[in-house]
Amino acid sequence: MTSPTSPALTGSCMCGHVKYTSTTLPTHLTSCYCKTCRRLSGAPFLTFGDFPVTALTFTSNPSSRMFTSYSGIAVRSHCRECGSPISMQYKCEPETIGITVGSIEEESVRGPLPRVTSHIFVEGGGEGRLKGGERGEEKGDGEG
Ligand SMILES: [Zn+2]
Ligand SMILES: [Zn+2]
Repeated sequence: MTSPTSPALTGSCMCGHVKYTSTTLPTHLTSCYCKTCRRLSGAPFLTFGDFPVTALTFTSNPSSRMFTSYSGIAVRSHCRECGSPISMQYKCEPETIGITVGSIEEESVRGPLPRVTSHIFVEGGGEGRLKGGERGEEKGDGEG
């Protein structure tokens, strides 16, 4: 029951050049601890909400988004002005797009966001040690 006139949520980058709306809430949330996500965000991990690509509309000028592919298996987009990471899309899953949950406007969300159910690249290649070591910092255990 989605209506194109009432987005389930909207979001934007830090500076507002990149904006999007979605007709649905994300199906699930995934926190990715891979090296690329850590470097891009400057944080221990990046959390993405997965959306069907058909649900998502970028309402900003298309040239505001800059595309990169660091790993070759996924394409990311960033704001060309402020650099905020906006999306990641696996080439093998072209029908799904991951949107950084930090870019979602919390006030716009209509309904409960799902919990983070996946933690990926936590242990792969030993790159997940930050998580184990710093877990005490993360009071989010009971959150969400
Ligand atoms: Zn921006
Ligand atoms: Zn990652």
